[in-house]
Amino acid sequence: MVMAPSPDKHYRARILERRDLSPDLWTVRIDPGGPFEFRAGQYATLGVEHEGRRIERAYSIVSSPYEDALEFFVELVPHGNLTPDLFRLNTGDTLLCRKIAKGRFTLDLRSGRTKHLLVSTVTGIAPFVSYVRTLYRDWKSGDSPMPGDHKLYSLQGASRSWEFGYREELERYSSDTPWFKYVPTVSRPWEDLDWKGETGRVDDLLRKYAYEWRLRPEETTAYLCGHPVMVENARGILERAGWKKDAVFEEIYFQEAKSGSAGAG
Ligand SMILES: Cc1cc2nc3c(=O)[nH]c(=O)nc-3n(C[C@H](O)[C@H](O)[C@H](O)COP(=O)(O)OP(=O)(O)OC[C@H]3O[C@@H](n4cnc5c(N)ncnc54)[C@H](O)[C@@H]3O)c2cc1C
Repeated sequence: MVMAPSPDKHYRARILERRDLSPDLWTVRIDPGGPFEFRAGQYATLGVEHEGRRIERAYSIVSSPYEDALEFFVELVPHGNLTPDLFRLNTGDTLLCRKIAKGRFTLDLRSGRTKHLLVSTVTGIAPFVSYVRTLYRDWKSGDSPMPGDHKLYSLQGASRSWEFGYREELERYSSDTPWFKYVPTVSRPWEDLDWKGETGRVDDLLRKYAYEWRLRPEETTAYLCGHPVMVENARGILERAGWKKDAVFEEIYFQEAKSGSAGAG
C-alpha cells in the first residue's frame, strides 16, 4: 500500500534494539512513540516514508502486552517493497507504526477447548511467543487465574536451527512450566550438521506430535502461522484427523508469488 502518511493514524516509532540472526532474519524492539494497546497474538502495521509517501505491512507482535517495548521478528524479502527498507534501519532510527493493533489470532479462551496446538514456520512463531510470555508472567505473578487448565504445544519449523529466533527462551519456558511444550524442527539438517533435534517439515510432524501429546480434536484448538504452503498442508492434515474448521485458526503471512516460492520450515 503506498499513500501519504497521516499523523492521526501513525506514530513515529524508534528502534531501541536490533538482533541479527542470519543474513535475512532479525528481531527488533521499538518504542512505538505513544500509547499502544494490544492483545497477545495481534499484529502492528509498520512502515516507512519515502518522499512523503508511505509503504506499510502487517507484523505480528512478539512481545507481551506487559512489556513497554514492542518486539518483532522479521524476514527480509530481497525484492519486497518494505523489508529492504526495514532491514536498513538500526538502533535510534525511526519508522511508522499505526496507532491501532489489529487481528483476531488471539488465544481461544471461549470454546472450552483447553489445549492449544501452535504450529509455525520461522517468523510465524511471533504471536506464540507473545502468548507464552503473557501466560508465563500471569503464572509467575500468582494472582492471575491464567493459564488455569490451558496447555500450549508449539511446533516450529525452519530450514536451519539459527532461524528459530526464540528457541532458548521457549525451551526455558518449556522446562520451567507444566503447561508449555516446544519442539523446533529443521528441514535442511544437511546444512546444519550440529543440529541434534527433530528434523523434517512441521506439517510432516503434525500427526506424530498430535499423537505423542495426546491432542484430540474436541479439546484442542490449532493455530497455524506463517508460510502459506505450511498452513494449507497443516489444515488438510488436521481436518482429515477430525479437527472441525472452527477449531483451526490461521494467520497467513503472504500469498505465494506465481513464479515460485521460498521454502520455509
Ligand atoms: C497478519 C500478518 C502478520 C505478519 N507478520 C509477520 C512477521 O511477524 N514477520 C514477517 O517477517 N512478516 C510478517 N508478515 C508478512 C509481512 O506483512 C510482509 O508481507 C513481508 O514482510 C514482506 O513485505 P515486503 O513489502 O518486503 O514484500 P512484498 O512487496 O509484500 O512482497 C513481494 C513478493 O514476495 C512474496 N513474499 C512476501 N513475504 C514473503 C516471505 N516471507 N517469504 C517468501 N516470499 C514472500 C510475496 O508473495 C510477493 O510476491 C505478516 C503478514 C500478515 C498478513
